[in-house]
Amino acid sequence: MSLQFINAADPVGHWINGQADAGSGTRRGEVFDPARGRLARQVALASRADVDRAVAAARAAFVDWGGAAPQRRAGVMFHFRDLVERHAADIARLLGAEHGKTLPDALGEVQRGLEVIEFACGIPQLLKGQHSHGIGGGIDHWSQRMPLGVAAGITPFNFPFMVPMWMAPLALACGNTFVLKPSERDPSPSLFAAELLREAGLPAGAFNVVQGDKEAVDALLEHPDVHAVSFVGSTPIARYIQQTGIAHGKRVQALGGAKNHMVVMPDADLDGAADALIGAGYGSAGERCMAISVAVAVGACADELVARVVTRARRLKVGAGDAPNVDMGPLVTAAHRDKVAGYIAAGVAEGATLILDGREGLTAELKRGFFLNPTLFDNVQPAMSIYREEIFGPVLCVLRVPTFAAAVELINRNSFANGVACFTRDGATAQEFVRQIEVGMVGINVPIPVPMAWHSFGGWKASLFGDHHIYGEEGVRFYTRYKSVMQRWPGAAPRDLSSSCR
Ligand code: NAD
Repeated sequence: MSLQFINAADPVGHWINGQADAGSGTRRGEVFDPARGRLARQVALASRADVDRAVAAARAAFVDWGGAAPQRRAGVMFHFRDLVERHAADIARLLGAEHGKTLPDALGEVQRGLEVIEFACGIPQLLKGQHSHGIGGGIDHWSQRMPLGVAAGITPFNFPFMVPMWMAPLALACGNTFVLKPSERDPSPSLFAAELLREAGLPAGAFNVVQGDKEAVDALLEHPDVHAVSFVGSTPIARYIQQTGIAHGKRVQALGGAKNHMVVMPDADLDGAADALIGAGYGSAGERCMAISVAVAVGACADELVARVVTRARRLKVGAGDAPNVDMGPLVTAAHRDKVAGYIAAGVAEGATLILDGREGLTAELKRGFFLNPTLFDNVQPAMSIYREEIFGPVLCVLRVPTFAAAVELINRNSFANGVACFTRDGATAQEFVRQIEVGMVGINVPIPVPMAWHSFGGWKASLFGDHHIYGEEGVRFYTRYKSVMQRWPGAAPRDLSSSCR
């Protein structure tokens, strides 16, 4: 196993037909070391010709891989699972180097990716079809799940290992071949996954990586040999991917952005709720699609809740993800840091109460990197941009509402509907919350309700475009289509074959 592409002087390249590939395009992107604020390396941006080569390799590989026995495909997944586990620390370091997240956070990301690979190991069971014996006239009828062909994945910067693992293992286990277009901001973990898949015994061409930007994405969306597209990223791009993919006759699942609320009822354990808000609001510098970015304080608990969050947030240690005991790393790029800082300025201008200002208190070292400190706004109003828009940084907004009903109404009016949480000690409140809330993933006293691999992940409304959630049994449905077969063997009565059995 080589990690030669790390710190190499050459740009991070592609992976086509089972090997590293420099590509034919001349355009380059920049990959930063966000903790130190410096350019770390470049990444090749694929041309249409590079995408065409990757899709051609995937199409050729589909002939054998699509017809391989499910146990053989499961065998590759078992081997891949072991390799990922063995190299978890390598992958985590790679994630930290380009994304900036802390080592424990990165190891958690690897673990969540690993769980989907484990689910894919059960593919023979998952692909079992449906059978109706003797539906009339000696006919048997069955439906079997067939792979689609070449599937593409387009993934965001914030989980550069886990999100590709939400897609590729299941797509491959179902018998498809795959072309991944990872985020150009942290491109290396996908190449490492490609090396591990090769080592696991996956045939050349079955898994390909094209680095790139809109040009590569559009080439995949328009390619006649790509049959399905899985996307995870921001809402405007998710909407574009779904509309363009569908216009080109593809099956599309496009997961978008989020604005996740956490309701804190007056009867909640306020210390527990404050702890949860710290982890879910500021973990990974708020760059999680399931981060809590809005605390909805119901009734009289607001002052006490805010005081507890302030005390805890002030104790957080901000620094490089590879330094010991760090709670929160940098943002991914200077441009993203500046965008988040712009939202802090907008919140002040719109009249919210800025209690902790993440632009303040940065040491000279942190100023060199792409850091902000934890930021807390109180008295935020629904019309403010810091409430309506996804900030994707360490900025927590507190809204105060008088009643449970007002909290539910507020959340149901929001255009995003990825995750939500309710902290309460009352079972009836919890039951009503689950029943009334119009959000795809719900936590009761659980701040980040990310479904396990054998369930499926997906938001509602502007957080997901398409009919299928991702991974779990929904993933199997997305990456297969039914073939319905009716079979009859007309003719004479069964021959006596006993003589041929001797
Ligand atoms: P992004 O939408 O900017 O990019 C996602 C992917 O789309 C990348 O591969 C990128 O190269 C590509 N892309 C960007 N602009 C494009 C364009 N104009 N045309 C075609 N392709 C384009 O998202 P990001 O900044 O990398 O990631 C953060 C976003 O992802 C946040 O909004 C976050 O909420 C969301 N996200 C959602 C989930 C989820 O499960 N719903 C999970 C993780 C991240």
